[in-house]
Amino acid sequence: MYSEDDLIPVSALADFTFCERRAALHFIENVWEDNVFTAEGTILHDRVDDASASEVRGNVRITHSVWLRSLVLGLVGKADVVEFHKTEANGVKIEGISGLWLPFPVEYKRGYLRHELSFAIQLCAQALCLEEMLGGNIPSGAIFYGKTRRRMDVTFDNTLRTKTQDTAKKVHELFESGITPKAEYSKKCEKCSLVELCLPKLSNKASSYLLKVLEE
Ligand code: SF4
Repeated sequence: MYSEDDLIPVSALADFTFCERRAALHFIENVWEDNVFTAEGTILHDRVDDASASEVRGNVRITHSVWLRSLVLGLVGKADVVEFHKTEANGVKIEGISGLWLPFPVEYKRGYLRHELSFAIQLCAQALCLEEMLGGNIPSGAIFYGKTRRRMDVTFDNTLRTKTQDTAKKVHELFESGITPKAEYSKKCEKCSLVELCLPKLSNKASSYLLKVLEE
């Protein structure tokens, strides 16, 4: 069990899954840089944040910008949207509203409909936070892609839950170590907003050069 002082952002799990160095640059070294991808993502999140706090569509209550916390996993963050679907069984109670409701987190991302493990882990972490806060079991959620305006359902099966718990543990260990992993260039660097600051190609060359000098 973690204390309030030890909580890390839920979004760090997505960063870490994408690239461990990126998570360290963001959250250990506090290095941030927008590119077209993150700027579009920020605009999308702002639009979600701007929406009215809560709305009702049939049997679904939609709540925006919901604060989340898990002391078991040591996480804190915000869900873009949590839908509450009316259900006959296995739901949770909402204060002041009758009936049972099944929480369904929705995370907004830019771009086209696609499967990204980092997003699935971030969403699953949100569900684990909600389960700890509200009780009950949350079987699934969705990722909404801004470009295509379509969403992909994500099932929180045991494999994804275990991966999410492991990732949270590893991110805590990384942050406790305070050590930023060295850069390793790969295709994903082309989409990374930190590429100009991280300089992964140069880091690789510098490491090889230093190794060569040491060998000589
Ligand atoms: S540029 Fe590449 S190595 Fe550097 S943080 Fe981004 S993804 Fe990681």
